Amino acid sequence: MCLTIPAKVVSVENSCAGLPVKRITIRDSKGEKTINALPADIRAGDWVLYASDMAVEKISEDDAREILELLEPKRYIDISRLDSAFLEILKACHTRELRREEIIRLLCIGDDAETNALLSEANTIRQARLRDFFCIHGIIEFSNHCVRNCLYCGLRRDSKDIRRYRMAPDEIVNSVYDAVNRRGYKLIVLQSGDDFFYTDDMLCGIIRKIKEKCRVFIFMSVGERSRASYEKMKDAGANGVLFRFETSNKALYSSIHPGQSHDERIALLREMKKMGYFIATGFLIGLPGQTVEDIADDIITTKSIGANMVSVGPFIPSDITPLALHPAGSAAMTLKVTAVSRLLMPKAKIPVTTALETIENEEGRRLGLSSGANSLMFNLTPEKYRDDYRIYPNKYHGKEEFWEKYGLYKEEISYKMLERKMFEAFESFEV
Ligand code: SAH
Repeated sequence: MCLTIPAKVVSVENSCAGLPVKRITIRDSKGEKTINALPADIRAGDWVLYASDMAVEKISEDDAREILELLEPKRYIDISRLDSAFLEILKACHTRELRREEIIRLLCIGDDAETNALLSEANTIRQARLRDFFCIHGIIEFSNHCVRNCLYCGLRRDSKDIRRYRMAPDEIVNSVYDAVNRRGYKLIVLQSGDDFFYTDDMLCGIIRKIKEKCRVFIFMSVGERSRASYEKMKDAGANGVLFRFETSNKALYSSIHPGQSHDERIALLREMKKMGYFIATGFLIGLPGQTVEDIADDIITTKSIGANMVSVGPFIPSDITPLALHPAGSAAMTLKVTAVSRLLMPKAKIPVTTALETIENEEGRRLGLSSGANSLMFNLTPEKYRDDYRIYPNKYHGKEEFWEKYGLYKEEISYKMLERKMFEAFESFEV
């Protein structure tokens, strides 16, 4: 679902009798504009939720203020403390590609004034380019079996202390129906370990059944499979993939992914892009031995692959893995990476990832959304399996209802808006 933005109604035009929509003028932080309104009993002074050019619902002033505070925080920036070289970089991102050393300079910021300026700049770019393109997406984790042995991941093949589960194809399809038809989700990620129990035919069957009954964008996050598998899933109706390259540093990649090839993972991503998939990719922050230079290269790699969605999160140690004692990636670095990604990829979708929410809770969501991110990813895995999808412990869930309240659910307009925005941003993208 797409999030709607609160605004105050300044005036209502007298509508022609019989017309289902009214014309209203609203005011928000960007000024005044005239849009259509669905609620019949709308009056000047009311607060409404709007998306694009349509006011969809009336809300209380208290609710409006609560969400505005979340989406449009006020940051105090002491400009006198910013040096001219730093300001030059923030300016340059509007007119040209930032250079590697400039990205490194931004990632090395330790000072509050510079951090605030960077995060604010990213928020300003997000507001200017994607004003009403705030979405909530869902993820269903349908199997925690995995043939790989990634050192950081609790689902790794050698993890003995987890209860493994697989959802039956119908159970997966029904979970998606519920998320779409009852709760109003419009984009769902289907994720699992690299689990070849699910054959291509099974995955394609699931995708087809979902597509027959629901207007929803389906993103597959099922790991390394053959190019042919991805071709088939595309033909069956899958729209996107969520497939991180994890790190751009090849030596680091080999040291934590036994038996896997970095070159092959990147080549597969590039193939997926050619197949017409909407690409969600990214990396982990805080891996052992990872440097700031590596992270700069990670951002550059994400952009060079042509990511439509940037998926970046801090590493979180899992007690049942070989990296149990390695410290978690920092929230501060994750926010800087979110902001720099927004500077480099102004139109990309950037979700606040669960891992950031896990180390910072609700504050992580708020900080992410005000530092360049423009979507949230809620966990829709059926309750009985959730705790067993233990990539890392204590995953954050919460306040979904609060956020869903601001979504445009069950409305066709919400799907249409997402579809239109995706087309606008990614010309080659087909539903
Ligand atoms: N099998 C799929 C999905 C992997 S799990 C695939 O290979 O694409 C999804 C993501 O969780 C991974 O890409 C990884 O970046 C992230 N992840 C795994 N373990 C993690 C940990 N300990 N901390 C933070 N993120 C982790």
